[in-house]
Amino acid sequence: MDKIGRYSFEEYLKMVEAFHGNVAPGLLLGGIMVDYAVSQMAAGVLFDAISETPACLPDAIQLLTPCTIGNGWLKVIDLGLFAMSLYDKYNGEGVRVFADPEKLKDWEDISIWLYKLKPKREQDKDRLLAQMEKAGRAVLSKRIITVTAQHLGKTSRGAISDCPECGEPYPKKDGAVCLACQGQSPYVGK
Ligand SMILES: [Zn+2]
Repeated sequence: MDKIGRYSFEEYLKMVEAFHGNVAPGLLLGGIMVDYAVSQMAAGVLFDAISETPACLPDAIQLLTPCTIGNGWLKVIDLGLFAMSLYDKYNGEGVRVFADPEKLKDWEDISIWLYKLKPKREQDKDRLLAQMEKAGRAVLSKRIITVTAQHLGKTSRGAISDCPECGEPYPKKDGAVCLACQGQSPYVGK
């Protein structure tokens, strides 16, 4: 591996640091995964993305593809798996890339990191990053997928009106009052 997307490893790691705050190993492996997935998509296909974990991978997808959380082309479906997919946004056909346990056996530092076999401070991060760079796609597998109709397309929020309780605009389909007023607010008090 000498490139991630159109970037050299060094350029990519600099972007990661600027965007993510530090050079997290998950963004390096994640970048290699995204690069692999992109290479499997036919040119010209408009694709959406799914990250199966909220950790690291969504940032790699946002750095390397046009898909972001904000534009709705990236969905995070938290299955707890270090895996992601890209798929044709119209027919749902695409590719899923995942860390393959069988292949990880040959890469000790990557295994120790992924399976959390040692506390972070006891892991050699430089060696881990070097191993990821050397391994590249060798620790990954892919399979062809079709995304379910339920997950295709944008989920419309429907009609909006002011919440009778807090007064802020909210999607009416959420109920008589907004979700925050239904007790789902993350804040103490009102
Ligand atoms: Zn409200």
